[in-house]
Amino acid sequence: MIYATFALMELVNTIKRSTSAELYEEAKQYFPGGVNSPVRAFKSVSGPPLFIKKGKGARFTDEDNNEYIDFCCSWGPLILGHDNDQIREKVIETVRNGTSFGAPTRLGNELGKLILDNNRFIDKIRFVSSGTEAVMSAIRLARGVTGKNKVIKFEGCYHGHVDSLLVRAGSGLATFGESTSAGIPDSFIKETLVIPLNDKEALEQVLKAHAAETACVIIEPVPANNGLLLQDKCFLEYLREKCTEHNVLLIFDEVISGFRVGFEGAAGYYNIHPDISTYGKIIGGGMPVGAYGASAEIMAHVAPEGPVYQAGTLSANPVAMAAGYAATQQLLEEGFYENMDAKTKKFVHIVESYAMEKEYPFRMQQIGSIFWLSFVTERITRADQIDSAGMEKFKVLHHELLQRGVYLGPSGYEVGFVSAAHTEADLAEAARIICECLDIAMT
Ligand SMILES: *Cc1c(COP(=O)(O)O)cnc(C)c1O
Repeated sequence: MIYATFALMELVNTIKRSTSAELYEEAKQYFPGGVNSPVRAFKSVSGPPLFIKKGKGARFTDEDNNEYIDFCCSWGPLILGHDNDQIREKVIETVRNGTSFGAPTRLGNELGKLILDNNRFIDKIRFVSSGTEAVMSAIRLARGVTGKNKVIKFEGCYHGHVDSLLVRAGSGLATFGESTSAGIPDSFIKETLVIPLNDKEALEQVLKAHAAETACVIIEPVPANNGLLLQDKCFLEYLREKCTEHNVLLIFDEVISGFRVGFEGAAGYYNIHPDISTYGKIIGGGMPVGAYGASAEIMAHVAPEGPVYQAGTLSANPVAMAAGYAATQQLLEEGFYENMDAKTKKFVHIVESYAMEKEYPFRMQQIGSIFWLSFVTERITRADQIDSAGMEKFKVLHHELLQRGVYLGPSGYEVGFVSAAHTEADLAEAARIICECLDIAMT
């Protein structure tokens, strides 16, 4: 009987993707590539993208009524899982009073205070509506403060779709990059210098040659958009020292790591003080919020206090502030991050031990509640160390996982996120399924 039910479920799972497929066909008439953000189109994995109807806790349900344990978590924001009670109630209560006023609200103060009271690295903050907007504004601020134009970034770090940051390293030793998107003027690309991660020498060289014209160095202190390329702490410390020495501002793009590896993000985790920090994802509790923050002195350059213009019609809108407040306040609970780290480690350990026992060239990189499925066995710190052949294996793995009710972001370069709603049982189940699928993908 149990077997019969199981077999039936398997069947349903394998065949029933038709509603998502239909919706995707329809969506192609409306949106470029059928989506409103490129990776959602499932281009590097198989099948049509799933259309999601609802989520609760660690799981969500697609339009064909398949249920999945979700490790994408909306690409990071949902550290408390889907449909968190406190966020939902606070949003409903707030939205009854209207959605936006284009004027200051008490809720903005409340979220601002909550964050600043619990973050030693920023004195003032400005709310915007996305991570991209936060980064774009932080770059302008760095340029406004220093009166210099160039930006140094790292190969393999993603900072949203900001013109001057959609640049990758050029060929050879040239530090001047090439754009990763059409529509970026050459004159913008020339203002961006790209160097490899975790490479003290490259950093020293580029600063020596260009510090006089460079406004800032921007880094994801926990690079998590192109695999999980955990940096040596001593490299990040060196970066801080060198920026100070060369009079160049250091921007930590904490859009993923902020409120994720700790309430104070990577700055707190590594105890390194950046000059400007950017936030997004978790800060809005699932609503569109981004932010940038810095010392009072640096933030005094932002309009209307200073000459660096930056504005937003829907910035700090009350519903988003309410969601952000309800979310971040829960992260301050005693032991929250320790617990997230412990259960993620346990989950990762089950899969890793299995892979090692089977001698699969596969490991899981992890920091806090972020993990990455890596198809090389050692920790890697630079983008060029990623084995692109592993992406074919990921494609198989992703497909098999979907069949069995585990949802990962649809690319092998994406990290996974554990939320507070993932129970030990959810994680044990997911780990068992991942091991089962590894047997298929790795052989
Ligand atoms: C997601 C992300 C961004 C862009 O944020 P959006 O809200 O998608 O615009 C910027 N930087 C980092 C590190 C990110 O992970």
